[in-house]
Amino acid sequence: MMMDSVFLAELPWPEAQRRIAAGAPIFLPLGSTEQHGHHMAMNVDVVIPTAIAASVASEVGGLVAPTIAYGNRSQPRTGGGPAFPGTVNITAHTFSLLVKDVICDLHRQKVRRIVVLNGHYENIGPSIEGIELALDAIGRDRAADVTILRIDHWEMVRAETLARVFPDGYPGIELEHASVIETSMMLALRPELVDLDRALHDGPARFKPYDRYPRPAEEVPPSGVLSLTEGSSAEKGRWLLSDCETRIAEIVKREFA
Ligand code: ZN
Ligand code: MN
Repeated sequence: MMMDSVFLAELPWPEAQRRIAAGAPIFLPLGSTEQHGHHMAMNVDVVIPTAIAASVASEVGGLVAPTIAYGNRSQPRTGGGPAFPGTVNITAHTFSLLVKDVICDLHRQKVRRIVVLNGHYENIGPSIEGIELALDAIGRDRAADVTILRIDHWEMVRAETLARVFPDGYPGIELEHASVIETSMMLALRPELVDLDRALHDGPARFKPYDRYPRPAEEVPPSGVLSLTEGSSAEKGRWLLSDCETRIAEIVKREFA
């Protein structure tokens, strides 16, 4: 039913007005349109934070603003980089201004509790900058009643869960691009967007511990997957999503109490 939706854009405006007036926290998911190997759709970084935000919002009486579906430039060492057709990069400058403008306009409408939920590694810095620019624009002295939380969903996974998901050791979040965490979460959320039979298994990537410009593409596995997809499962995806949903709900309840 339209009136029950947690998605802000699916509501008629009087219902949005009513929920904002009631103090609903607003979730702003940040994604990207980025290659995720041969075996997954390119909207992985959109699907995952949007789904987590919707789940938490329904638990805490929040609303989910439209996800920003373009991300800050994909980098070879964390997302494969710009060489893959279909990846659409926007600059850090533009991305931070998008985050800033959305927060400022929500603030103008009396929203005072915002959760920026990020699903794309390269959005970390520009999302921080966007929040800082919003606070500059609002005025630090006028922002005393505003609380903005910024969360990277992968930071919400418990060590015990990582140990269960990666019995042979966790490769680290940078190399997790299109690998076991994202593939498992997508198998749990949108299995029709995953086809494991198409995975090339050409990783893991062996990157030098620094960047070089313009970047050579040969360090990125041809598939675009930076680590391995073996061991991905919908069950693991549910463990990972459950950690994210549980912890974010706890954080939101505590911070906005
Ligand atoms: Zn991703
Ligand atoms: Mn990404």
